[in-house]
Amino acid sequence: MSETSYSTLGFSDRSLEAALDVIADTGFVGVEILGQAPHLDEPLQGNALKEFRGRLADRGFNSWTVHAPAKRTVPGAPDEDWRQESVAKLQRYVRFSGALGSRGLIVHPVPNPIFVSDTQVGPLHELMHDALRRSLDELVPVAAEVGTCILLENLPYHCDYPLLSMRELRPLVDEYPAEQVALILDTGHAWTIGNDPVAEIHFAGTRLQGTHLQDVDAATPNDDHWVPTHGGLDWDAIRGALAEIDYTGNWTFETVQGRHGESPAELARMTRRVATVWGR
Ligand SMILES: [Zn+2]
Repeated sequence: MSETSYSTLGFSDRSLEAALDVIADTGFVGVEILGQAPHLDEPLQGNALKEFRGRLADRGFNSWTVHAPAKRTVPGAPDEDWRQESVAKLQRYVRFSGALGSRGLIVHPVPNPIFVSDTQVGPLHELMHDALRRSLDELVPVAAEVGTCILLENLPYHCDYPLLSMRELRPLVDEYPAEQVALILDTGHAWTIGNDPVAEIHFAGTRLQGTHLQDVDAATPNDDHWVPTHGGLDWDAIRGALAEIDYTGNWTFETVQGRHGESPAELARMTRRVATVWGR
């Protein structure tokens, strides 16, 4: 069942516990936990994990997802040492996601070009495809063991890298079991690199198990992470497309910036009002 959820990324100005308090107070029944500083830069284990799960339930949350560390932690890293480092770190987050009972672990498949020195696009294509497959081959058995799903996200980079869209990720995801590998659509990332979120939702189809709902400027999108309806995306069409594919994953709002200097708490409240109008 779909539930509305809010990402702690919107509260990067405070601790994870303080972020969870505001998100719960704002009325969201779901939350996405950012797996990097200033929130969970180390996955919790043992008793600390158990207690953390208890605190999520105590705040009234019904569901949660975990965003794996992004930046240099990418399974499609074109360099083998870099890829292995990423897989080792991701394995720990896969275990954490399973133990926490999360609805999915969000992973950025390929690196931001700022981290890549080799600008030869041809070889990078093959290297990244190959690296992502080998990484999933290693991560999927762990995900199956702990009962969690890896959600691969579309990214907003202006470059010729492969695997930045649902259209390109879907065939690769189809090679793996649906319970362990699925897709998450970031609406603003799609538009920023010229992809229509509606078309992307249809490309993802039954494999879509997560969303990052955020708005961007229609004409000059820049991964703005505005409150949905404050930018130029066609939200009626996006909601219609999600209904058409019978989407059941969470409606996760990833609002980070305001257009007029709103505080993080104001942005969460504005987003909550949109979610309520949408009936969620
Ligand atoms: Zn996102």
